[in-house]
Amino acid sequence: MNPLAQQDPAIWDAIEAEGRRQQEGLEMIASENYTSLPIMQAAGSVLTNKYAEGYPGKRYYGGCEHVDVVETIAIDRAKKLFGAEAANVQPHAGSQANTAVYLSCLEVGDTVLGLDLAQGGHLTHGMKLNISGRLYNFISYGVDKENHRLDFDQIAKLAREHKPKLIVAGASAYPREIPHDRFAEIANEVGAKLMVDMAHYAGLVAAGVHNSPIPFADYVTTTTHKTLRGPRSGLIMCKEEHLKLVNRNVFPGTQGGPLMHMVAAKAICFDEAMQPEYKMYGQAVVDNAKTLAETLLSAGLRLVSGGTDNHLMLVDVTAVDLGGKKAEEALDRCGITVNMNMIPFDQRRPADPSGIRIGTPALTTRGMGIEEMKRVGGWIASALRSPDDAAMLEGIRGEIKDMCEQFPVPAGRNSALMPAN
Ligand code: PLP
Repeated sequence: MNPLAQQDPAIWDAIEAEGRRQQEGLEMIASENYTSLPIMQAAGSVLTNKYAEGYPGKRYYGGCEHVDVVETIAIDRAKKLFGAEAANVQPHAGSQANTAVYLSCLEVGDTVLGLDLAQGGHLTHGMKLNISGRLYNFISYGVDKENHRLDFDQIAKLAREHKPKLIVAGASAYPREIPHDRFAEIANEVGAKLMVDMAHYAGLVAAGVHNSPIPFADYVTTTTHKTLRGPRSGLIMCKEEHLKLVNRNVFPGTQGGPLMHMVAAKAICFDEAMQPEYKMYGQAVVDNAKTLAETLLSAGLRLVSGGTDNHLMLVDVTAVDLGGKKAEEALDRCGITVNMNMIPFDQRRPADPSGIRIGTPALTTRGMGIEEMKRVGGWIASALRSPDDAAMLEGIRGEIKDMCEQFPVPAGRNSALMPAN
C-alpha cells in the first residue's frame, strides 16, 4: 500500500524514475550528494505542517514548544560543528543566506568585491540579474590567467581602489583550496567586512580537510546539501555581535516562517558531520578527486589550474575539440551526470561553454574509492574522445549500471517515502 502512488501516480512515477536514475548512474555534479535515511525522514516529517515565525522562545505562533527544541538543537550543533560564535539555521537555501547577510551589512548601492561568475563565482556574488547585482555595486575579481589560482594581487588592488564595504570569498567552480587568511588580510587593510560563502566545500571544512573560514570572516554562509551532505537548505554563521541583525534580516527581512522539517534535517546533518567516520568521508572525497584528476590528465585531457585540491575539477573539453554542451550530453548518454561550465577566460558562450565541472562527493558517499575513480576516469575520457560512438556510449552505460549495483545509494531508492506501517 503506497498512498502517494495511489493518489498521484504521475508524481509517484516521476519520483520512482528519479530514484532509479540516482541508483543506476554516476552522479558527478559537484554540488550534489546523497543524504542519509534519517535526514530524509526528518525532511518528510510532520514538521512540514508547522508555522513557526520568529525564533525559539519568541514565536508569533502558538504550539511551537517542540519545534523550539528542534531549532535550538540545530543552532547548537551548527556552532559546535564549525566552532562558530552564532548561527541562524532558518535560511531556506544558500541564496537566501547570502541575501540576508547583504541586507545585514550593506545599504543599497554599496560596493562589494566578489568572484566573477565566469571565473567560478556564484550568481549571488553580484550577477547582474540576481538581487545581489541589482541592489549593490559588485566589482568582480578573478583568477590568474596562467595558473588559474585566485589573483590576490588583483584582489588587493581592486580593494584599495574601490574601498568595498564587504568582500565576498567562496566559489561554485574553483578546484583549489581557498586561503581565507589572505582575504581577511585584504579586508582588514581596507576596512571591509568579510563574508565567506563556503557552500561548495563546507563538508570538507567540517571534516578538517579544508581550512576553516570561521576564524577569519565576519559572516560565513553555506548551503547544507553539497559536500556537507545534508538536506537542500542554507545556514549563516557569524560573530555574536552580528547575530541580531542577521536574525532580523532572515526573518522578517527575507523570509516568513522557517521550514521546520528542513531545520530538523539540518540538525541531523550537523550531528552526522561530527561523527568520526565523517572525517574519513571528507578525506575520501578529496583523495577520489585527486585520483580522478590524475586519470583524466594521463588520458590527455586538460584541467583548469592543472588539477584539484578539493572535491571538484573543471575539464577544458576544447582540448578534445568539444564544447561543454556536447560533452555533457555524451556523458549523460553513458549515465554520468555532470554540468557544462564556463572556464576562466572562456571564449565561448554560457549556453555552450568550454568546460564541464565534475565532482566526487556523491560517488564517495556511495562508498566508491580509488579503483572506481580510475575506471570512471577511463570512461569519461573515452566518451569525450568519441562522443558520437553510440554503441560505445551504450556499452559504458551498461558497465556503469553493473558497477553501481555494488554501491547502493545510502537511503535506498524511495525508502523515506514508504509508509512506516
Ligand atoms: N553559494 C554558492 C557558492 C553556490 O555554489 C550555491 C549553489 O550552487 C549557492 C550559494 C546557492 O545555493 P542555493 O541553490 O541553495 O540557493
